[in-house]
Amino acid sequence: MSLLELEKVESFYGASQALFGVSLDVKEGEVVALMGRNGMGKTTTIGSVFGLVRLHSGSIRFAGREIAGQRPHRIARLGLGLVPEGRRCFPNLTVSENLVAAARAGEWTFKKVVELFPRLAERRDQYAFTLSGGEQQMLAIGRALMTNPRLLILDEATEGLAPVIRRDIWAAIAKLKAGGQSILVVDKTLSELLPVADRCFVLEKGTTVFEGPSEALTPELQDRYLGV
Ligand code: ATP
Repeated sequence: MSLLELEKVESFYGASQALFGVSLDVKEGEVVALMGRNGMGKTTTIGSVFGLVRLHSGSIRFAGREIAGQRPHRIARLGLGLVPEGRRCFPNLTVSENLVAAARAGEWTFKKVVELFPRLAERRDQYAFTLSGGEQQMLAIGRALMTNPRLLILDEATEGLAPVIRRDIWAAIAKLKAGGQSILVVDKTLSELLPVADRCFVLEKGTTVFEGPSEALTPELQDRYLGV
């Protein structure tokens, strides 16, 4: 069964239409990549799932239940964990305070998060604003995990980060996958994204134009849909 399923989603910003029919799904335990050139609608798709962008038509089901039209905080509580573009943490809380503030009863604890990201253990009492960009990204992922999401959604989690940090983040994503975590991930670095993704969806001008297993996204198709 699909954990998340979008069918022919159309969304607007005010009077301007941004999505013209996005369909995608994520099954339990899968890592699914959402791809597309700049401005093709990836972030808007995620915003539509979370009720942050106005849905005009189509359906969004999570765990078999229609969620379109519900309030963002309710949607989050159903078990969707978002790591938004631009890594949002509370700058004036420490690392451990940021994590504890996000905690909900369940499998994820401060201890488990710092096992996944040992750098955060070393910095547990530092204010989040003093962290490097990569460490803030780890903290943002840790915060989302502390809510025990059934589906983790990562929007450009490695953008602008140094290669060594990117490697740590992809390693953490691979570990989460091995542990059965369902993940929807947006990222521009195909060479890092495709090996970890089971399936992928490509958007063009607010519409799904490709769906298939990662191996099916051949270099020719990558060039057609994602080349510059
Ligand atoms: P990027 O990789 O650059 O983040 P994206 O695929 O995530 O791109 P979106 O940010 O979803 O693309 O943008 C899709 C379309 O919606 C674009 O045409 C964009 O200009 C428009 N758009 C995005 N945010 C807004 C907004 N707040 N108000 C109006 N239009 C917007």
